[in-house]
Amino acid sequence: MSSFPFVDYQGNELCIESVALSKIAKTFGTPCYVYSHAALMTTLQAFNTAFAGFNHLICYAVKANSNLAILDLLARAGCGFDIVSGGELQRVIKAGGDPQKTVFSGVGKNPDEMRMGLAANILCFNVESEAELLVLNQVAKEMDKVASVSLRVNPDVDAKTHPYISTGLKENKFGISTDEAERIYTEKQTLSNIHFTGLDCHIGSQLTELDPFIQTSKKLLDLIDRLEAKGLEIEHLDFGGGLGIRYANETPPSINDYVASLCTIASKRNKRILIEPGRSLVGNAGLLLTQVEYIKHTPDRNFAIIDAAMNDLLRPALYNAYHDILPVTKNKDGTENYQIVGPVCETGDFLGHDRHLCIKNGDLLAVMSAGAYGMSMSSNYNTRPRAAEVMVDGHDMHLIRARESIDQLIAGERTLQQTIPENNNTRNFA
Ligand SMILES: *Cc1c(COP(=O)(O)O)cnc(C)c1O
Repeated sequence: MSSFPFVDYQGNELCIESVALSKIAKTFGTPCYVYSHAALMTTLQAFNTAFAGFNHLICYAVKANSNLAILDLLARAGCGFDIVSGGELQRVIKAGGDPQKTVFSGVGKNPDEMRMGLAANILCFNVESEAELLVLNQVAKEMDKVASVSLRVNPDVDAKTHPYISTGLKENKFGISTDEAERIYTEKQTLSNIHFTGLDCHIGSQLTELDPFIQTSKKLLDLIDRLEAKGLEIEHLDFGGGLGIRYANETPPSINDYVASLCTIASKRNKRILIEPGRSLVGNAGLLLTQVEYIKHTPDRNFAIIDAAMNDLLRPALYNAYHDILPVTKNKDGTENYQIVGPVCETGDFLGHDRHLCIKNGDLLAVMSAGAYGMSMSSNYNTRPRAAEVMVDGHDMHLIRARESIDQLIAGERTLQQTIPENNNTRNFA
């Protein structure tokens, strides 16, 4: 099966579902993120089908793509959410998501964020250090609440992925070693405003093998057994996210095999299973639509300078990540070897190296597999307004985020002539 089941050529024209990408460019301009409603729902369905019969909750990792329309669709399909900031919690609530299906991850939650989570009665805090646990207990006490907690275990398993997105090795900043977690679960049961309800892990992202997931799950179950032997009741097991997708030639496990292996390992324990997929849900449901601004031939190389850049899609610059790049209109003439680069003043500003394409000024290109960690990692570097986002559903196109304007981009800024010197509250302008 193609990696992008809802993107294909109809004649010479690349379409997403039933809409030509050229029509989207004409209507909304470029650069523009485009998502397929059908791709998103089909992938979610694959997860739910694989879990059939198991007490489970899919907590979509909001940071992969936090557009309200995507959160709304997933919420209405019954998904929970995995958040890593108070801002993401606000997005979930705004989109109609259920806080009771929301888990709060992250190594550095501050007391304000803890208060937001407690006030919303979220399902669980995934706590990453003893220090954080003590602060959470204090904050909960002040609010007369009890915080439900999982400790995030760092199992010291090699996820065999890019070092920047590997999180489950003992040298990483994430989680608590299994021995240390066992000690904290045992000793800190007595904290007045903490209730241990689960056990959590997340070993990295873009995993293309099952083995690290299996090794991790086994370590978690060993720990559960040790804890239950001491009389501690654990209600849910959270296996985190991390399932990889196909960008180029990767062969990640299928959703079905991945879920089946987790269920098999957990089957003897009667626990609710949580997972926190991000990339695997949205990654291949989106693309970045861009236009060729200039073709530039140098004695060494051919450059296609496009209107999307590293500020729109950071993954190539940050991880040397590969994204397939397809012409929106297929051209029969001979191809040339191009470096696909953006307008930003950085040599790292490329979206693809050595791509064989037949293109000219004004042509449209689709940068594939850009649904996850695309828009959500975008920035305003070089004072570039962020791209528009469009969701296609059958024949319909919906603008789900308007292109940012320069006015919006600089709205919070003031020159020294415009500020009142006595007022050094930098967050609130009068
Ligand atoms: C980023 C993250 C995820 C999602 O990872 P994917 O690789 O996108 O599935 C899940 N859980 C936690 C704690 C994360 O930080």
